Amino acid sequence: MAGRRVLTGGIAQESHSFNPIITRRERFTIIQDQGAVEANRGANSTFGGVIDSAKEADVYLIVPTLFRAQSGGPVDDTVFAEVSDIMVEAAKRGDFDAVVLPLHGGMLTETLADPEGVLIARLREIVGNDVPITAAFDLHAHVKESTLEPLDFLSSYLTNPHEDQSSTAKRAFRAAMGILDGTFDPVLAATFLPMLTLGNDTTLSGPLAEIHAYAQNAVKQDRVWDVSIFNSQQFLDVPSMGQTVLAYGNGEVDEARKVANEIIRMIWDYRDDLINKYPALENELENIEKSVRSIIIGDQGDRVAAGGPGDSTYILNYLLENKIDVETYFPIYDPEAVATCERAGAGQEISLKFGGKYSTVSPSISTRGKIISIGKHVPVVYDGPSDGGTRTHIEKFAVLRIGKINVLLTNQPYAYIDPDYFRAVGLDPDKAKLIVTRSGYHFQLNFAKIGRVVTVDTPGMSSYYVDQFPWKHARPFYPVDKIDYMPRQYTRYRA
Ligand SMILES: [Zn+2]
Repeated sequence: MAGRRVLTGGIAQESHSFNPIITRRERFTIIQDQGAVEANRGANSTFGGVIDSAKEADVYLIVPTLFRAQSGGPVDDTVFAEVSDIMVEAAKRGDFDAVVLPLHGGMLTETLADPEGVLIARLREIVGNDVPITAAFDLHAHVKESTLEPLDFLSSYLTNPHEDQSSTAKRAFRAAMGILDGTFDPVLAATFLPMLTLGNDTTLSGPLAEIHAYAQNAVKQDRVWDVSIFNSQQFLDVPSMGQTVLAYGNGEVDEARKVANEIIRMIWDYRDDLINKYPALENELENIEKSVRSIIIGDQGDRVAAGGPGDSTYILNYLLENKIDVETYFPIYDPEAVATCERAGAGQEISLKFGGKYSTVSPSISTRGKIISIGKHVPVVYDGPSDGGTRTHIEKFAVLRIGKINVLLTNQPYAYIDPDYFRAVGLDPDKAKLIVTRSGYHFQLNFAKIGRVVTVDTPGMSSYYVDQFPWKHARPFYPVDKIDYMPRQYTRYRA
């Protein structure tokens, strides 16, 4: 139906409870209005999916604001309040038929354990029950009753590494249109389980591939309208943390309840298979001098993609100690080191101490090197496929060359899931023999054409050795606690 209008936007970030660096406003890429729509058309992001769906359905999008940041510590309360207020003001102006929100779902603020639920509940209070509100979340979202209560429909990515961001949002958009058309009456059966998957988290093979195939079969056979499976991010110390399965029936809940229960049971039955160790760094770097193919390494212990601080020196220390001197790109977050390089100037040789400030398992490095470049606000456009077309930037950087190792120092942490981060600072990914990223999964899709991709077992804040954390709210959960099977259920009818 022509002439419909949809309100979209919000705030998306994935938080790590144990990362002490609060995510402030400057870490967000902020976009709004029709410029945002034009710039993100066709992007494989949830926002891109909303835009493409709107175009197809001839729907006008209202985008009051969209704040997006990479993973990190909890978000500054004032930033969340700012976004919420902008969205709420727009909701008060009305003049739209539905709300479709491209969020992450794994965000924390300094004081809130379920900020997405809080934002959606505020919007619901204004729009009432007639206006559908739907959302698309990352597969690693933390979803609980308070998130689902104000939502008519929620969809998760079905892939890890993530390559279906756009189609996830299209499911949420289609649900909103179905509700408006009267063809979809969402009834939700949700099942929750207090457990974590730790290391065998790919949906490309193994238990999760089988579980997703089962879920999609249930959709194909019309047993349910849609299924989402959330494997909670592993570093969220919040109550009711764990696995969440959503099955939506169209007007009826019995079959959806069965499907949700069957899937959560499969996850439980595979609980030991969902825990896995990564290969050792030394094995992966053996013979790197002679190898023809380049290698791109995910630093499992300090993944900014999972909310790690991004300043672990573990891999670089290993290279220096073992005198592995091959053309290397090694990124590290250290604002003070960037400032020191700025003061010294490009072309200078300096002694520099950097890294290891937050990743305390790996000591900081003191060494001499040559500053080969300095820059600020360089644009990055993802090649994809993961988040392909996404536009962001590197705020400030300096490249320090130590032998053949190029240390990319930045004043903000980045996950480097895409080769364009390196191109942006003048480091051609095709010329490196070794590239280190701060991602465990998604970089593998985007770097596959550059060389061999592997995530290695390194210590740090985002390693899956979760016993290292001082959990206060999430326990008991498997495998930290030896608990019995105890699923929790929730049903929601559209009011
Ligand atoms: Zn994710």
